[in-house]
Amino acid sequence: MHVHQILKSKGDGPVITITSKTSIAEAANVLAERRIGGLIVSSDGTQVEGILSERDIVRSLALRGAVCLEETVGDLMTRNPVCCSKDDTADSVLQKMTNGRFRHMPVTEDGALVGIITIGDAVKARLEELAMEAEALQGMIMGH
Ligand code: AMP
Repeated sequence: MHVHQILKSKGDGPVITITSKTSIAEAANVLAERRIGGLIVSSDGTQVEGILSERDIVRSLALRGAVCLEETVGDLMTRNPVCCSKDDTADSVLQKMTNGRFRHMPVTEDGALVGIITIGDAVKARLEELAMEAEALQGMIMGH
């Protein structure tokens, strides 16, 4: 399954982005309200500047305490995140996520943000693919 098929099955909602100047406290509010685990950082909603994960906030809270809530997204975000394209497969996205130990990946087209894939989306797509393959094999063995 390809990334464009995964995006289609998720629906056409806009990707939630945040600017690097936003406070960490505000970013935590957005993550909680939207019930998501990562935010793409972009000043214009198109150019991907970084990614901020709930893990970045938790790590900083544990290391330095609540003072980090007053810092900005730009202070904690991961710059130049690994992105994928609409033509990539669920399998290749899963491999990149597993190797890089992260669970979010912006999807870009000609350098512009067009979607986001989470590890949950990629695993779901891969499981559907494997179920279809198993069914096809069973059909061949049973002769129908
Ligand atoms: P995650 O597992 O996605 O919540 O993030 C774990 C760590 O990886 C955090 O420090 C994130 O900022 C970073 N991260 C998340 N997504 C990516 C990505 N696509 N490329 C590089 N780093 C990422």
